[in-house]
Amino acid sequence: EATRAALDAIAAKEDAVHSFVTVDEEGAMKRAAEVQKLIDDGTLTGPLAGVPVAIKDNMCTKGMLTTCSSKILYNFIPTYTAEAVLNLEKAGAVILGKTNMDEFAMGSTTETSAFGETKNPWNTEHVPGGSSGGSCAAVAAEECFYALGSDTGGSIRQPSAFCGVTGIKPTYGTVSRYGLIAYGSSLDQIGPVAKDVTDCATILETITSYDKKDSTSIQREETDFTSALVDDVKGMKIGIPRDYFGEGLDAEVKDAILAAAKKLEEKGAIVEEFDLSLVEYAIPAYYVIADAEASSNLARFDGVKYGYRTKDYEGLHNMYKKSRSEGFGAEVKRRIMLGSFVLSSGYYDAYYLKALRTKALIKQAFDKAFAKYDVILGPAAPTTAPKLGESLSDPLKMYLGDIYTVSVNLAGLPGISLPCGIDSKGLPIGMQLIGDCFKEKNIIRAAYAFE
Ligand code: GLN
Repeated sequence: EATRAALDAIAAKEDAVHSFVTVDEEGAMKRAAEVQKLIDDGTLTGPLAGVPVAIKDNMCTKGMLTTCSSKILYNFIPTYTAEAVLNLEKAGAVILGKTNMDEFAMGSTTETSAFGETKNPWNTEHVPGGSSGGSCAAVAAEECFYALGSDTGGSIRQPSAFCGVTGIKPTYGTVSRYGLIAYGSSLDQIGPVAKDVTDCATILETITSYDKKDSTSIQREETDFTSALVDDVKGMKIGIPRDYFGEGLDAEVKDAILAAAKKLEEKGAIVEEFDLSLVEYAIPAYYVIADAEASSNLARFDGVKYGYRTKDYEGLHNMYKKSRSEGFGAEVKRRIMLGSFVLSSGYYDAYYLKALRTKALIKQAFDKAFAKYDVILGPAAPTTAPKLGESLSDPLKMYLGDIYTVSVNLAGLPGISLPCGIDSKGLPIGMQLIGDCFKEKNIIRAAYAFE
């Protein structure tokens, strides 16, 4: 019944929202019937058994199209399933289909998809955010009960804020990246998108696992994230970075975040302002590192092994060139060129190495903050969702919108984005809680108490 209801919602809303690249109605109904049998005979228990889920289209799903919303992977059907998705399947999840995203997760609006943009369910003239815009819109439009997204520089947290849903980017290494098509490998993490903190904690608990197939996977000691769902923040120390409230922050977003801080204070938390420092260096460092890694990761799409191959060509090199030129979109090409440039000899030290040093300093600034505070509270994005088309013409402006999210990935920290108000345009406002490495429970506890 749950799967049928989700598929009916998809049928009713997809024309307006376009959250999905692929909907597997037949497969989902078949799987739902199988899971129902296992539930009935008592083999399958647990909170996610039989619950339908939508998966971002950069996670491999065996036998199901996985495109990264790119023409270059328009026909790619993986022979294996991503570890995080396997973990969900073991818990009895029913996969409804794959959600739309910015091409190769590069973007903040889901407009760079080769298969058309996703629209914000709150107001279809606005973007849902990105790059996990399809996952967040699907949850907001109630086309699924929850979704998986990926976050390299904010791609779970920012669209969650724009769509009025809750999303977690876990500590780097918590969720296996096996089967996640790589963008910036040292930054990428998979995480849950859902209606509330309880659901997110439950899903995160399920997808967390140590995986030998991911060399950066970590054997975590405490993964009982749901144990932090206690309505109690007494004595919790919350830091608010003054540097997050400068120029560029929308006044209504600012007010909503400060009101959230007040609410947590009233519930017994100790709230204090502090100087985080180095905030202005996060975006340049992130875009150098993410694009450098992307330029290397995307070298594998060459028209030989899988995906799109150009029709007419003369020789191998011309085939590579034409396949890549025709297969990748403008934003992806921009990133490959930027990434190749910063890694090229003569510029490596000036850009890439400098960015790595900046990353280390940013981590140190957070370490200093977490010596004093349990969590950091701030906005998830400087504004609410912009109108469709506004960001495409000015990529630099779009990059600047990532100011509050990218440093969390550079430092490997966990972050949660959750709704904290609605602006005068009727669009949701999101707040972000950042924790120290491995301290998901702190952000879950604070978020749950706020909610
Ligand atoms: N907007 C950022 C970018 O374009 C973040 C994307 C992401 O987290 N995948 O790189």
